[in-house]
Amino acid sequence: MLCPYCKGEIPDDAKKCMNCGEWVDPAYRKPQREDKQGCLAGVFELLSSVTWFALLLIIAVIVVLLFLEHNGVDIF
Ligand SMILES: [Zn+2]
Repeated sequence: MLCPYCKGEIPDDAKKCMNCGEWVDPAYRKPQREDKQGCLAGVFELLSSVTWFALLLIIAVIVVLLFLEHNGVDIF
């Protein structure tokens, strides 16, 4: 059969193209895509957790500053 990616001739039962290195068998290609999505989802998860951590940190700093100011500590 012909490789759908490089149009090179490969054995009919080939799972991977020996010319371009692409996985021809969809069963082998699908997990790779899921890995990439999982990696992207992990990055987004990390970014959102960092954002939430930064927000919580800012809120905590504001609360502490307000608390100190309320107790008569001159911070500014
Ligand atoms: Zn190929």
